[in-house]
Amino acid sequence: MESKSIDWSNLSFGYRKTGINVRCKYENGKWGALTFCEDDTITMNIAATCLHYGQEVFEGLKAFKGKDGRIRIFRMRDNAERMMLSCEGIKMAQMPVELFCEAVVKLVEANRDFVPPYGYGGSLYIRPLIIGTTAKVGVSPASEYEFILFGMPVGLYFKGSKETTPFMLTRKYDRAAPLGTGTFKVGGNYAAGMVAGEEAHDLGYSAVFYLDSCEKKYIDECGAANFFGIKNNTYITPSSTSILNSITNRSLQTIAEKILGMKVEKRKVPVEELSTFEEAGACGTAAIISPIERIDDIDNGISYEFSKDGNAGPVCKKLLQHLQAIQNGDDEDRFGWITYVD
Ligand SMILES: *Cc1c(COP(=O)(O)O)cnc(C)c1O
Repeated sequence: MESKSIDWSNLSFGYRKTGINVRCKYENGKWGALTFCEDDTITMNIAATCLHYGQEVFEGLKAFKGKDGRIRIFRMRDNAERMMLSCEGIKMAQMPVELFCEAVVKLVEANRDFVPPYGYGGSLYIRPLIIGTTAKVGVSPASEYEFILFGMPVGLYFKGSKETTPFMLTRKYDRAAPLGTGTFKVGGNYAAGMVAGEEAHDLGYSAVFYLDSCEKKYIDECGAANFFGIKNNTYITPSSTSILNSITNRSLQTIAEKILGMKVEKRKVPVEELSTFEEAGACGTAAIISPIERIDDIDNGISYEFSKDGNAGPVCKKLLQHLQAIQNGDDEDRFGWITYVD
């Protein structure tokens, strides 16, 4: 795939092969050298633990091109640290944060032509993953692992004619249990959410929100994004032992507090409280913010509406603008979130 043939103004959020991917193997108790590869396939043993017992963790982060032509990688150290927590959570070999960061920088350098130019709203989406590769049939952790890193240019995640979209809320399914793997970014959590996610799509919703799986009283998150609600100049986001600690959410909390002068509350959010929010959004690296039109509690036939005209509210817009400005360099890197690749 040649970068010259890419239509930067029509990028979707989908896989496409770029120039080079980066790999690193863990064997005999240590990580080897980074290798660079054009082939986008892998060969492994048919009994590898990732294939049978779900030993797989992943991450997602982005690099942006600024007006000044410099490439900015957003909060990669935070992704590195979270990936190692995920590895710990399902007994996989952890990688030094420095090695992860070196791999990301080298990937971006090798694929700099695939970072969308400034002004198109696009970015290079970077996907790191680690898989257990030891052949095993008995259930126990692998002793060999492979780290793989690839990138692809992406546009905006949700592309509709409206700024806001409807979401569904249901008690019919759980995604993760309170003391389970919900706080780790593991592929298995996504498999667990596919039935509910497809049901939501079939019914015309962007995604499904889960309630806490213990009491079914509090908002957890949707399959791939955290939740936040806005009221009385306050940014409110759930605390829960079964959701992922979103780096986008943390960034929005910082912007709300430090730039917009809002209060930030991280606490349990009862379902009924949805009726009191002036605005609501789902947040994650892929979409940044997906402003929510309404959340339909389909079990009870209740609809919580946040936008009457289909447009995002003023706070969602401001949060998004400030975060994008930091990411693409229109604003200064006031919180130390950027790694530059020149
Ligand atoms: C990746 C992910 C998010 C978003 O996290 P970011 O760090 O903001 O990209 C939210 N929830 C789940 C379950 C995720 O896997």
